[in-house]
Amino acid sequence: MLNKTQKGSVRFEDVVKRFGEVTALKPLNLDIAPGTLVTLLGPSGCGKTTTLRLIAGLESATEGRILIGGHDVTHLSATYRKVSMVFQSYALFPHMTVIENVAYGLTVKRMPKAEAHARAEEGLEMVGLAGFGKRLPSELSGGQQQRVAVARAIVLEPEVLLLDEPLSNLDAKLRRHVREEIRQIQQRLGLTAVYVTHDQEEAMAVSDRIIVMKNAEIAQEGTPRDLYERPASAFIADFIGDANLLPCEVTEHSDGGTIIRLGEEIVTLPAATAPIGMASLVLRPHQVRISRTPEPGSFAAEVSYAAYLGNQIQYTLASELGEVFAVLPPHAEPFRTGDSVFVVVPAAKAGLVTA
Ligand code: ATP
Repeated sequence: MLNKTQKGSVRFEDVVKRFGEVTALKPLNLDIAPGTLVTLLGPSGCGKTTTLRLIAGLESATEGRILIGGHDVTHLSATYRKVSMVFQSYALFPHMTVIENVAYGLTVKRMPKAEAHARAEEGLEMVGLAGFGKRLPSELSGGQQQRVAVARAIVLEPEVLLLDEPLSNLDAKLRRHVREEIRQIQQRLGLTAVYVTHDQEEAMAVSDRIIVMKNAEIAQEGTPRDLYERPASAFIADFIGDANLLPCEVTEHSDGGTIIRLGEEIVTLPAATAPIGMASLVLRPHQVRISRTPEPGSFAAEVSYAAYLGNQIQYTLASELGEVFAVLPPHAEPFRTGDSVFVVVPAAKAGLVTA
């Protein structure tokens, strides 16, 4: 039976990674709890893959300490770390059958062939590919090949499963399907998993926690909900879900909330806070309401683009505060390009960021 108990924490203590002149990671501190799936998310070049490779032992830290399951592995080579990695390219051996691919790591570890194959069968069953063992990888779809790669990783019963953009070679529909499977397997086995992606929706869909990286350091860390509802900066607000960022000035903190000046309007935001001074109002597209007449806390705009998408209507609105993107339900009153309207700020839900 595949073992449920082999799960490890991951800890980085002031880990720095330099490649010559390039600092790929500034002093980085991480704590990943056992049994959780944590995603490293961020734009290209921010240091996600380097972090993953440091956990795997495929890169060595320039400074700092790395602990897996409480043990210092900073100077331990990849072979001796109890981690398995799933790559975006699947990296299956083309001349070996599926079962041989899945059993490969076990036979390298000198497990008798019959036992390794029995374990590999279990792994294939786990990823929904029971009975596919005799095929060659070329006889499988991309999604199935990636599931084989996942099976190959989990039969090794790693303390930590590492996934490097595992879905990027799959088409959009398959991607959702495979990510759900990966998440279910991780939860069923109680595995600690570290997942790298630059796709924020994918990160939100699979993660217990997300670590957003920018310029070789952590920009913010939290649950998907924390990051969406309480972004700490304009970068996070924009990166996690769409956001309109409108310039405003925080003028006062009152019992009723934070008072801002937004264009000509004075608006009280009960749930948002920021220091006195210039800030940005975070307006999520689906929270925007559009009215034909002015309302308290609204500002004038003109509809510059309207698109009916079946399940929603998208509007782009031009205003003195900047462009506002709004998503309304399809039964909402249809506005047309050129209409003069008012954008109503959802004061109870809107957030504020300062940088
Ligand atoms: P992507 O999403 O594009 O894969 P990433 O966030 O995974 O990006 P990393 O691959 O970790 O980014 O790279 C971080 C920085 O380190 C980049 O500036 C990159 O050019 C640099 N870097 C990574 N590997 C090496 C290397 N072997 N030699 C020199 N520089 C490197």
